[in-house]
Amino acid sequence: MNEVSLRTLEDRERSLYPKIGLFIDGQWICDRDPWIEVKNPSTENILAPVPKATDEDLARALNAADRGFRVWRDTPPQERVKIILKGVALLRERTDDIAKILTLENGKHLADAQAEIERCANFYEWDAAQSLRTFGLIVPGEPQMQKLILRQPIGPVVAFTPWNVPMSSAARKTSAALASGCSVILKAAEETPGTACALVKCFEDAGLPAGVLNLVFGDPAQISATLIASPISRLVTFTGSTGVGKHLTELAARAMKPVLMELGGNAPVLVGDGVNAAEIGRLAAVGKARASGQICASPSRFIIHEASYDDFVGSFAEVFNSLKVGDGFAPDVQMGPVANARRLAAAQSMVDDAKQRGARVAAGGQRIGNRGYFFAPTVLAEVPLDADAMTVEPFGPIAACVSVPDLDAALSVANSLSVGLAAYAFTNSLHDAERISRNLECGVLAINHFGTPDADTPFGGVKDSGIGREGGPSSLDAYFVTRTVLQSTA
Ligand code: NAD
Repeated sequence: MNEVSLRTLEDRERSLYPKIGLFIDGQWICDRDPWIEVKNPSTENILAPVPKATDEDLARALNAADRGFRVWRDTPPQERVKIILKGVALLRERTDDIAKILTLENGKHLADAQAEIERCANFYEWDAAQSLRTFGLIVPGEPQMQKLILRQPIGPVVAFTPWNVPMSSAARKTSAALASGCSVILKAAEETPGTACALVKCFEDAGLPAGVLNLVFGDPAQISATLIASPISRLVTFTGSTGVGKHLTELAARAMKPVLMELGGNAPVLVGDGVNAAEIGRLAAVGKARASGQICASPSRFIIHEASYDDFVGSFAEVFNSLKVGDGFAPDVQMGPVANARRLAAAQSMVDDAKQRGARVAAGGQRIGNRGYFFAPTVLAEVPLDADAMTVEPFGPIAACVSVPDLDAALSVANSLSVGLAAYAFTNSLHDAERISRNLECGVLAINHFGTPDADTPFGGVKDSGIGREGGPSSLDAYFVTRTVLQSTA
């Protein structure tokens, strides 16, 4: 592309991208020093500056959330649900525009961006419905003592969300908070702030009272330290890396606050013998390519029975070698870029480490082109167990394959890491499926498919993958506290 067409492209991208602002106490604030600039990972064009919240902004956000909490807590649940569902209707109406913002800032394919927005709508609808059934209890007791167990919203929530699923992660947290009657200060990822602004705008336009939902950006360490230490905030919820999650959990412990932590994984995929390994290899390629492998539930460590190994790796590599990688706006593209230069460097380093330790590159293995963060979908075969590709979450389009003699060996490899989020297993044996369900250390297990939980089922991890669950029948539990009232009627 020549200089002029590159500039035209940048202008066009900017015209689709919103102005980024903080949203505090019902007001948008854009005139702050920039913290970073948002980059389109497909073109490396600059989309917009991201304003940095000052200490005064954070103090105002906390006070607004405090006032907003009291207003929202005392709003009848039916009224709250009306406003939430109006916000959801606006979100659906605006899907096409918001999906473009998501593809611009994150790189994922436009169709995947649209699907992510629909997923958000599902979260709000599920939590709104749940909120109408958050009953307390009356405990049988002596005639002159009424024993009540009340469930009350916990208070202002501080929520930190990542760049890989910037809409659905922000939706998960704001949806549960708003449905429970809590106010929120959302610190969305500075690298993908446009979708968070668009999401907040839907609820502003739906008539959410000022202070109930606030949005800040800036220096993550400064923001988390300030918001978590404040006596105003009552719950800390975070989705992101295990390292940052542990840091925020320490900050929360010092302030005696509960946390909801959805952290990294490194999902094992057990493929047994006697299965259609070639077909599972094709399905694995589709599952792994989703969001360029940058999802915490992405299938990553393929632990394959030796009888299925060659067919599985062969078909996986065949699909990956023919996958069309490019800008998420191109209709025929099957996988977009990775989200930033950090992920590109991490992917290359993981492949280099595996090669150096003797792994075979069956597909991909390097960057594509020199503009945009495109990394070839990669299958690494015969990967030693101590290679980074088997021990570090790839968070990129890299699949590591290893062959095992039996299910005992497969379970031992799968459970060998400190993380345990999503896991997958393919087997024709009910007996093996049952053993895997009982013995695989994970929070979510998919048997004979690559699906993950929607709004109606819990999502979360064990071990270093986090604390608590989002979604499912108990999706609001973390956002409530129980109050016992013993009322004498004598
Ligand atoms: P990182 O650990 O550098 O974290 C970056 C993100 O965490 C940014 O959104 C940043 O704002 C936030 N952050 C960093 N320090 C913070 C602090 N002190 N307080 C509050 N927020 C803070 O991660 P990265 O380079 O973006 O990604 C690296 C790894 O993170 C990935 O390999 C993956 O394992 C993990 N990750 C997981 C998820 C998930 O969905 N669980 C999402 C994104 C990243």
